[in-house]
Amino acid sequence: MTIDQFNFADKKAFVRVDFNVPLDENFNVTDDTRIRAALPTLKKILADGGSVIIGSHLGRPKGPADKFSLKHILKHISELMGVEVQFANDCMGEEAVAKSAALKPGEALLLENLRFYAEEEGKPRGLADDATDEEKAAAKKVVKESQKEFTKKLASYSDCYVNDAFGTAHRAHASTALIAKYFDKDHKMFGYLMEKEVKAVDKVLNNIQRPFTAIMGGSKVSSKIDIIENLLSKVDNLIITGGMTFTFTKAEGGKIGNSICEADKLDLALELIEKAKAKGVNLVLAVDAKIADAFSNDANTAVCKVDEIPDGWQGLDIAEETEKIFADVIKKSKTILWNGPTGVFEFDNFSQGSRVVGEAIVEATKNGAFSLVGGGDSVACVNKFGLADGVSYVSTGGGALLEAIEGKVLPGIAAIQE
Ligand code: AMP
Repeated sequence: MTIDQFNFADKKAFVRVDFNVPLDENFNVTDDTRIRAALPTLKKILADGGSVIIGSHLGRPKGPADKFSLKHILKHISELMGVEVQFANDCMGEEAVAKSAALKPGEALLLENLRFYAEEEGKPRGLADDATDEEKAAAKKVVKESQKEFTKKLASYSDCYVNDAFGTAHRAHASTALIAKYFDKDHKMFGYLMEKEVKAVDKVLNNIQRPFTAIMGGSKVSSKIDIIENLLSKVDNLIITGGMTFTFTKAEGGKIGNSICEADKLDLALELIEKAKAKGVNLVLAVDAKIADAFSNDANTAVCKVDEIPDGWQGLDIAEETEKIFADVIKKSKTILWNGPTGVFEFDNFSQGSRVVGEAIVEATKNGAFSLVGGGDSVACVNKFGLADGVSYVSTGGGALLEAIEGKVLPGIAAIQE
């Protein structure tokens, strides 16, 4: 079932959203991107004459805690949705049952933080640090048992289930995946945000227009290895950049000074170079670096070849020659995936490479390429440079997007599709 096909008139929909938004010390929402991202889905249901029961988590509570209460964002949500959203102080209590049952067409109810219950994640809480494996297994069994009741009760509030929480789609939690089995395929569906995310991932994994270029940046090869491996059988060009560069440079015998490097991943870097060759992938690495004599925005800087970095200096961004090479490859591409900066973009003096990459992606997009930006820091990059509107899609899911690109089946997606 798709959200556009479903008529929500007189129906109650349980909508799992990701309202895990940052709050300041007075509990004001400091970035409401995630709330806005779910609005089309919530508004569509209300406009159809349905009612919504909104479920979300906020933070990582270990149990009920005022600090993580969703009541803090109720007013903000009401303003954005244009309706007075009701609130149930406990997602399992009698109040939640009564208020969801009483919902009339066009009304909305926000449930308290689902993670106030260990059953949401299905992980035992409060285990002693020295708990034995048996104790851990027994505690897990208990929470898994009660998780069934928890999930069933959540499902009982509504006639249909809508998952619009891409940010948690990689978790097999009660409200993100397990709940789906209480609804038949005609009564469970993705929200609009999930639909967009799933479509975007599909364009870089399955329906690829070539040439396809992936730009993988960031600090560590070890955290990106599964993605790189999966992408090697998909892409035409793989740009590896950011702090990862220096593990490759060192592996090939270059001098990297004090640059960040994973000494135990040198063999892995060489293996990846070989694999890229074997698969006919054009692996593009930096040729020069903007170096600094300290890890600071105010450090002294110089430019040198990437494999000739003097001791006491470290590469904190790519330099001009590499910028040209990267931009050239990107501009000729028809599908582009960007994850991770080319350098320490948080320091203005070392953000130029990431800006150039972002601008090249925008230009390629103008010329008809599909571009997907996602996974934490590259989203911060496109926002910092004001380029978000110039790319095809900016993913809202950090870990979820990365796992999808690794080729993993995401439980939240599978639960709707099966
Ligand atoms: P990741 O979380 O692995 O995607 O890495 C992103 C982080 O890598 C950003 O905070 C960057 O500042 C950092 N980074 C990028 N290039 C370098 C570099 N050359 N040296 C140290 N850190 C870097």
